[in-house]
Amino acid sequence: MSVWNVIIIGSGPAGLTAALYAARAELKPLVLGGVEAGGQLMLTTAVENFPGFESIQGPELMQKLTAHAQKFGAEVIRKNATRIDFGARPFKIWSGEESYQAKSVIIATGASAQWLGLESETRLRGHGVSSCATCDGFFFKGKRVIVVGGGDTALEDATFLTKFATQVTIVHRRDVLRASKPLQRRAEQNDAISFKWNRQVVEVLGEDRVTGVRLRDTTSGEEETIETDGLFVAIGHKPNTELFAGRIELDAKGYIVATHAGTHHTTTNVDGVFVAGDVEDARYRQAITAAGAGCKAAMDAERWLAERGEVERRTMLYGQ
Ligand code: NAP
Repeated sequence: MSVWNVIIIGSGPAGLTAALYAARAELKPLVLGGVEAGGQLMLTTAVENFPGFESIQGPELMQKLTAHAQKFGAEVIRKNATRIDFGARPFKIWSGEESYQAKSVIIATGASAQWLGLESETRLRGHGVSSCATCDGFFFKGKRVIVVGGGDTALEDATFLTKFATQVTIVHRRDVLRASKPLQRRAEQNDAISFKWNRQVVEVLGEDRVTGVRLRDTTSGEEETIETDGLFVAIGHKPNTELFAGRIELDAKGYIVATHAGTHHTTTNVDGVFVAGDVEDARYRQAITAAGAGCKAAMDAERWLAERGEVERRTMLYGQ
């Protein structure tokens, strides 16, 4: 069985940028892109904050990134990694019964937004239901939106959305916010923001677009309907790290720990395994920051391989 120089797990902006850089360094990388390839951008509509693209549909951007990496020799396959063994070298990764071996691995499995789990929420995703205020806020100019959640993300999103929406209502299931005090103060002082306490969204209303939500009072059980043009779900993200639990160091929230965080390196506690993107980054979570991290991970992997005489060094790593 052939041993790949580098296998990249994940095909969002981090994984595909890592693939592009690794391919251009002639590492001939393999991308295990997942059955649902493309990451979170596959769930968004127009992307207007990826430099160089004034406006592009999320899936089209992912198609372009895939084609770009393939053009330089990356092999991208739509299979899920289902099991890994980082305990022996070469590393071993399975997709079902099939297995692959690699000298180095870049983990770029991303994170998934938590959703409320309503059928109506799934149906109207991309049609007024969003989990990304930074991506989609612009489309709600002059409109009314609801933000669900009581944490930092919900309050930050709500404040951000007042740049566009005329009316932002935060719906929280309790009457106490989890968010930090400064964010709470900023939201409370913003006239465009109001709160609905002790409320759970039980249905998103609308046929082709969101027109309202049905709320249930979590204390009395009473229900009410309110009109809105958009629903932003901000109840947290979860890193896609189930596969790695017990095999690589994770933090308390399940994110992979980059051992040299703060020095901008992408190494993990397993020598030869690198990490990039939202699976490691709970803070920025942008396509462009993930892409940048993918670039760094590929350069770190290449350097690591070259130092061990596994490959000839192709790219320059500045002053290191
Ligand atoms: P979070 O802190 O876990 O808060 C999630 C919020 O969603 C909570 O208020 C929770 O309610 C609510 N929630 C969870 N499941 C729900 C459900 N099924 N239905 C309704 N509500 C639900 O998540 P986050 O706000 O995304 O923050 C994640 C991390 O990033 C935090 O550590 C945060 O500090 C950090 N962050 C920092 C900044 C910043 O510093 N500027 C900005 C964004 C995020 P309960 O309160 O009732 O549990």
